[in-house]
Amino acid sequence: MELQVIDATMGYGNKAVLKEVNMSFHTGEVTCVLGRNGAGKTTLFKSLLGLLPLQQGSIRLDGKDIGGWGRRQFAQAVAYVPQVRGIPFPFTAEEVVVFGRTAYLSPFEAPSHADRRIARECMERVGVSHLSQRIYTQLSGGEQQLVIVARSLAQEPSFLVMDEPTSGLDFGNRIQLINQVKQLSQDGLGVIMATHFPEHAISCRSRVVMIDGGAIWRQGTYDTLIRSEILGLLYNIHLEITY
Ligand code: ADP
Repeated sequence: MELQVIDATMGYGNKAVLKEVNMSFHTGEVTCVLGRNGAGKTTLFKSLLGLLPLQQGSIRLDGKDIGGWGRRQFAQAVAYVPQVRGIPFPFTAEEVVVFGRTAYLSPFEAPSHADRRIARECMERVGVSHLSQRIYTQLSGGEQQLVIVARSLAQEPSFLVMDEPTSGLDFGNRIQLINQVKQLSQDGLGVIMATHFPEHAISCRSRVVMIDGGAIWRQGTYDTLIRSEILGLLYNIHLEITY
């Protein structure tokens, strides 16, 4: 499946944040989106998720404009993994993951045994089965983030859009999450991930999109873009990367 952005201008009201955006994302591939604070990563994601109308251009999923997809149908194809901070879920971790099945239920329909089984399988996939009966709000930040990833997987999407999924995680949880991302893409999922850590692109052997100056500044593969001189320009710093 392909998620394609064509000649898009993205922004708020009549303020354009990103212009002339052209790119495509594919299933089975990780794309890391890099850029300074305020560059427009969140704006790009809101647009990809259909939450922010384009000022110009189009976004197509499987060749069809995302405006033409029903909300539920779209949620079955594209799932969003937000940053977890402050999400007040007074539920067990398993119940939180079962919420991911909402895209498949009609209003007032209770989740079935099959929905619960899928939720449990997704928890197993990201290694959080042992947390299933724990109260979500009592989990650590890293555990919560993994539960939210499991919830998004329960949506059985083709694409996962992740907004800085490792922010707030300790070193070990960060590595665990990035390894999960790599595995999920190998299993066929398309992952689009904003990150402040260029090394994530190297770990995932990902495509890279760099945002700067109100546009897509560079896009390509990690080995051509995660380089000292290019990151130096993007972040306005001097650094040296050794592989
Ligand atoms: P990033 O996620 O890369 O930090 P954002 O996409 O959040 O960047 O922000 C890009 C620009 O859009 C910034 O100048 C920000 O101030 C502006 N912006 C973000 N949200 C809004 C909004 N709701 N209304 C107007 N401008 C906004």
